[in-house]
Amino acid sequence: MSTVALGCFAVFAGCGEPSEHGTDQAAAGDGAPHDAADGQGDVTGDAVTVPVDGLAVIELGEVSTGGDGYGPWVPLQLPAGVTTITLVLRSTDDVTLQLAGWDQPGAVDIAPKAWLQTAGTAGVCLAPCANRILAQPGVAAFLAPNTPLVELRSGAHAIRPYAFRSENGNEIGMATKVRITAYLGWSTPARRRLALNVALTGAGGLDRTTAPKSSELQQALATASALLGVAGIELGPIRYRDVDPTLRFVTSRSGPKSDLAQLLASGADFEPGLNLFLVDQIWLGGGGIPGLDLMLGIAGGIPGDPFGHDHRRAGVAIAWGLGTDQEGLLGTVIAHELGHYLGLFHTTEAPGSDGALLPDNLPDTAAPAPQNLMHWSVTTTCKDLSHEQRQVLRRSAALRL
Ligand SMILES: [Zn+2]
Repeated sequence: MSTVALGCFAVFAGCGEPSEHGTDQAAAGDGAPHDAADGQGDVTGDAVTVPVDGLAVIELGEVSTGGDGYGPWVPLQLPAGVTTITLVLRSTDDVTLQLAGWDQPGAVDIAPKAWLQTAGTAGVCLAPCANRILAQPGVAAFLAPNTPLVELRSGAHAIRPYAFRSENGNEIGMATKVRITAYLGWSTPARRRLALNVALTGAGGLDRTTAPKSSELQQALATASALLGVAGIELGPIRYRDVDPTLRFVTSRSGPKSDLAQLLASGADFEPGLNLFLVDQIWLGGGGIPGLDLMLGIAGGIPGDPFGHDHRRAGVAIAWGLGTDQEGLLGTVIAHELGHYLGLFHTTEAPGSDGALLPDNLPDTAAPAPQNLMHWSVTTTCKDLSHEQRQVLRRSAALRL
């Protein structure tokens, strides 16, 4: 089981003043997909030239994992000048996907090749991986670098997929097919856009006609855009789509048949952009305190798949009812969940039963940083994004010129 929660709930704690707005230098790639090379595994540096919009999409093909869950090492040649890479692994919905290793030349490996053999779980690579990687079911995305502690080098990389399922608390490697796509990013201008598809379930009485005129929703989107604006990210264009109204109450979120899986898969035919689902309630599940057993929002990955919509992890879900209880909370929750989807972990996870805190892998996010946008308990005054958090956000392949 993963020890890193993918969503947030609860509504307390005070926060400080907002951080100064400003735009640091851009560090990531962006733009529309380019011609994909349909090779099996190996892609040479010669095959990729720097695209005008700073992003290249490379299909690495499909590989098979063995009965122990391990796939082969898959080579990937990184051209000079690449500043960021997102890998997306895809399999069937009953498989959880992880990287058993990610080698790079002449620098600290992004994921050490033997980390799984000593880790207590395949769910997340913490201490052995400066560049934290989180396993995800069905479709898993991995961003590098997601910390200044790892330097991305050009040259011969190799990645090794690992596939498993959880059964009675045990993780069991399994044979399956895994498709791998790499998104390579080059440096681009400081300000870029994140297109949103706002998916309406009927929560808040909103549909695609009324949502653009809803002052509550428009204020929330403006708040979210301002919060992410310090990282040079502007939300837009924003489109509105209606989805199945039976999905407006998310009462289950584990497994391919869960409400959450059905919700996030329901935007399969949307235009390019990040899918943002507005629902009434998201139940945390598992017999919590009545009224507190709810989540404000949840993201389909850390990071999420930057392009694909046709799967159970595509986008973020936001609980309209909870978010509108406090002025400004809805917009803050939207920015927080988008932050996860673009690649940010909580500055620290909620204390475990032993009281231990799990900080993120960024050196400038002092735990527990209750005023930070990515604090585990989101409040209306959580607004800060550190310099390094902004760098991570800018590396997302979901951003456009
Ligand atoms: Zn969160």
